[in-house]
Amino acid sequence: MTVLSTEFTMQRDICLKKHNTLALPARADYFCRVDSLDHLYQAIDYAKQHQLKLIPIGEGSNLVLADDVRGLVIDINLKGIDIQDSRVDRVQVTVAAGENWHHTVESCLRQGLYGLENLALIPGKVGAAPIQNIGAYGVELSDVFTSLSAIEVATGNLVQFNAQDCQFAYRSSIFKQGGLDQYIIVGLCLELSKIPMAHAEYPALKAALKGSDTSPEAVFEAVCRIRREKLPDPAEIPNVGSFFKNPVITVAARDQLLAKYPSMPSYPQSGGLSKIPAAWLIEQCGYKGRRQGNVGVHDKQALVLVNFQGDGTELLALARNIQTDVKVKFGIDLVVEPRIYGDTA
Ligand SMILES: Cc1cc2nc3c(=O)[nH]c(=O)nc-3n(C[C@H](O)[C@H](O)[C@H](O)COP(=O)(O)OP(=O)(O)OC[C@H]3O[C@@H](n4cnc5c(N)ncnc54)[C@H](O)[C@@H]3O)c2cc1C
Repeated sequence: MTVLSTEFTMQRDICLKKHNTLALPARADYFCRVDSLDHLYQAIDYAKQHQLKLIPIGEGSNLVLADDVRGLVIDINLKGIDIQDSRVDRVQVTVAAGENWHHTVESCLRQGLYGLENLALIPGKVGAAPIQNIGAYGVELSDVFTSLSAIEVATGNLVQFNAQDCQFAYRSSIFKQGGLDQYIIVGLCLELSKIPMAHAEYPALKAALKGSDTSPEAVFEAVCRIRREKLPDPAEIPNVGSFFKNPVITVAARDQLLAKYPSMPSYPQSGGLSKIPAAWLIEQCGYKGRRQGNVGVHDKQALVLVNFQGDGTELLALARNIQTDVKVKFGIDLVVEPRIYGDTA
């Protein structure tokens, strides 16, 4: 892990607008950026001394700041990528939590290390990737994950988690469940292939590739192209990507809905379950492209809520309206995907 030695400074009453991709204007009581493990330990000590809640963040691309944040927000900026090339066909890549995720994907591909291409252009830093087991176009972090290192907040101990410990699931892990707020992730170890291999089976990807070149490089380019066409750039239209998880229901419940809504898309899952695209449900309730005050639903992607200079309260009010209407029409509960801070409603 590279250690960049810059001064460690604690700031107070900081506006977080630039630190979350929804550009929500919340403030943090305390804020610091950590460039080394030493800084991180100093920040944890400071929080302990002042009895502050710790909120580690990356690029804020999966945060909804409903109100001002009471506590110490830590911008994780640990850098470094290390490759352990001990096998003929595979390598272990250790990446520090503050590295940008997409740059890591690009850098690995450039060095002929394969497995991350489908996860190209997901915003955020490496340390946040395990939190919701990021996934896209048929691949999830858990497919390449070996282990992670984290600091346990309560003890200050550096601890290791293997894949099983992380309890990865669809947009979930132990860090969103029993381990919520207990660990600060400092680095990940990923296992990548030296032999070109690609996952090109995901329908939208397959269509974009048109069955021709299915090399990892072609998959990477296709994923970037689709994402740029489909998803609003947070720098232009503030958003956090998918606002809700795609609901997973029983096949029996799906069949009941299909009898009423024959055009409803669904994707089979193991264990007699079926995944329904939340975007379709939201669109059917008339929300696609709808504006509510200073927030709204994107006109090309109904799963993406966008902010036109509104605040977290307005955004969550829109999210609740959507949840209510989807529940009334389809009997399905939509679960919010990003982490909400400061919601008191
Ligand atoms: C346009 C757009 C498209 C997206 N597409 C996808 C997609 O295809 N698939 C997908 O899975 N996600 C997607 N996302 C969501 C988001 O990019 C991911 O969840 C990403 O991993 C968040 O990274 P971040 O650094 O911005 O985390 P943040 O938003 O800063 O933090 C998210 C959560 O992780 C915690 N956290 C952050 N860093 C650490 C750390 N080092 N240790 C412990 N906890 C930490 C925070 O406390 C917070 O609870 C998208 C978002 C946007 C804006």
